[in-house]
Amino acid sequence: MKKGLLIVYSGPSGVGKSTILKELLEDKKLNLAFSISMTTRALRGEEKDGVDYFFVDKKTFEKAIEEDAFLEYASYVDNYYGTPKAYVEQKREEGKNVILEIDVQGGLQVNEKCPDAISIFIEPPSIEELKKRLIGRGTDDLKVIEKRLKQVKREIKSSKTYKYHVINNVLEDAVKEVKEIIKKEMDN
Ligand code: 5GP
Repeated sequence: MKKGLLIVYSGPSGVGKSTILKELLEDKKLNLAFSISMTTRALRGEEKDGVDYFFVDKKTFEKAIEEDAFLEYASYVDNYYGTPKAYVEQKREEGKNVILEIDVQGGLQVNEKCPDAISIFIEPPSIEELKKRLIGRGTDDLKVIEKRLKQVKREIKSSKTYKYHVINNVLEDAVKEVKEIIKKEMDN
């Protein structure tokens, strides 16, 4: 059986990454498996432990680092985020295309470790538009938003090595574009 793709999928927080991803996961033809990350950040809104993330404390996360359990991990806005290695390998062996929704620091680590990974970066139409969206989402206070926006500028700069860049201006168009990228890579 052909091994599944490893897809690094990044983009600034609030760019609509998760909304696009939801639609990708509903398209069975893409044969995707979502890699659930581990994080030390607090649970937000409707999120569920073991579905959106594995929410753990710092001690548990650091133990997993010691045990070399991560394909990559990064510290982002004062919290740890990491991709458990075992799940990714298992699903790829089963022929599933595994998608990692991770930040650029992690994405660059994966691109280096796994040269066969394909990388997609979702961009906002502009920083101003992104700020509006983050405020509209209402899940973070202004101080956190300002911190995240600083991070965004850094992220866009370091995403230059990503293979694909998709601007999320109109949601349906962005979804279509990402689906076409994945289908093209599946046929390669
Ligand atoms: P949020 O707190 O908004 O859910 O995520 C913040 C950032 O961390 C996002 O850019 C998200 O893609 C990234 N992230 C989520 N999981 C992982 C992971 O396992 N590793 C890395 N490096 N980043 C992650």
